[in-house]
Amino acid sequence: MRIIVAAFEETLELGLQKPGQVVPMIPTFVFGWPTGQESGDYLALDLGGTNLRVCLVTLSGEGKFELTQTKYRLTEEQKQEDGSKLFDFCADCVAGFIRAHIGDKDGSIKEGQELALGFTFSYPCTQDRIDQGTLIRWTKGFGAPNVEGRDVAELFRNAMAKHHLPVTLTAIINDTTGALIASHYVNPRTKIGVIFGTGCNAAYMEKVEKIEKINHLNLLDEDPEAEIAINCEWGAFDSFVHQHLPRTKYDQIVDESSNKPGEQAFEKLIAGRYLGEIMRLVICDLIDEGVLFLGQNTYKIEIPYSFDTAFLSLMESDPTDELLTIIGLFTFFFGLETTLAERQFFRALSRLIGRRAARLSACGIAAIVSKKGYLDEGCAVAADGSLYSKYPGFADRVHEGLVDIFGVKGKNIVTHHAEDGSGVGSAIIAAMTKKRR
Ligand code: ADP
Repeated sequence: MRIIVAAFEETLELGLQKPGQVVPMIPTFVFGWPTGQESGDYLALDLGGTNLRVCLVTLSGEGKFELTQTKYRLTEEQKQEDGSKLFDFCADCVAGFIRAHIGDKDGSIKEGQELALGFTFSYPCTQDRIDQGTLIRWTKGFGAPNVEGRDVAELFRNAMAKHHLPVTLTAIINDTTGALIASHYVNPRTKIGVIFGTGCNAAYMEKVEKIEKINHLNLLDEDPEAEIAINCEWGAFDSFVHQHLPRTKYDQIVDESSNKPGEQAFEKLIAGRYLGEIMRLVICDLIDEGVLFLGQNTYKIEIPYSFDTAFLSLMESDPTDELLTIIGLFTFFFGLETTLAERQFFRALSRLIGRRAARLSACGIAAIVSKKGYLDEGCAVAADGSLYSKYPGFADRVHEGLVDIFGVKGKNIVTHHAEDGSGVGSAIIAAMTKKRR
């Protein structure tokens, strides 16, 4: 793990020095920490890997806020159809949300009120300004044509223009940056934000003087101490070269059969989109070898991505000796009978897959901690995403990993569930942006 941390730290450094690196270390144009006193009403749109969310956030200062939201499920087709359709859908959802909340019973949006909107678009984008973002490449299973290489802010503004609503897009934000800023608003010890959802990524605050690749922007002229949040896009660590991370043959199959082979090598060992698939591939391998489910019809479990990562959580938290939850899971979803020994094996396998994901995540966190020198004074790491919040013992395993890397001092680094980064973080950043203008 220490070898991985050292290589990771070098990779992060390289991304700060030169443009176009595999781990792109993207300056987000979010300058410095919030004061905790930001206030006002803001809209947030969050295009996650699984859901689309529209929120109205009311910041009341002193680290306090209120939030109203509506969630919409994204279909696999929507992720692949033309980009203009995807952005039309986003705009339709925002318009529907505003219409539903204008003058509603709580009066949450007032007639004629101008609203600033922060768009949480959690895919790697290069930015020259906070209200612009050019998609480098889709991740997390998205493939919508005509978006890569284009400014997503402009695509969204074009789609919104059809609705004639008093909304201004003021910031394109990554969910990691959002989690970092929202959690710091509430707890200033927070120095790192990490997402463990469909994908995996992290953000932290870096001194502008350390980011050689943006020297030409002369950002230090105004403030020589300036800091800027960095969206690491660390899911890409070890992509293509595959030099640092130990991969099994199942990891290789996940990679080769994905829509982006070679890319997001770190993420493919950790994120929610892939853990269930890794488990399914092991099971299918054992079916092929004639070890599992002899004489049973296994076609359902042979469907790619049919084994959700939530199933690993369920298997790990089964409290019964007979492992009744696992019986139910295999019969209900896959029409398969299991023996107790098989169920115990499945549970052990999910522990291995989950534990490896958590320990590799600890390596990424450790690389940032070590780079920034946070170990002695300690820091809080804001973590969000279903994998972190719902997978039993995930946080404990990350902490265990940090102690294995740093020794007892590793206990100074504590993860906690992040404040809602894509909603609240987006709103705080929109407020910070307004002040800066
Ligand atoms: P997103 O990253 O899309 O914004 P989430 O944070 O909810 O959204 O992450 C979704 C991912 O989390 C999916 O890949 C899903 O398989 C996984 N997931 C959902 N529920 C659980 C659970 N109970 N345990 C582990 N993983 C889960």
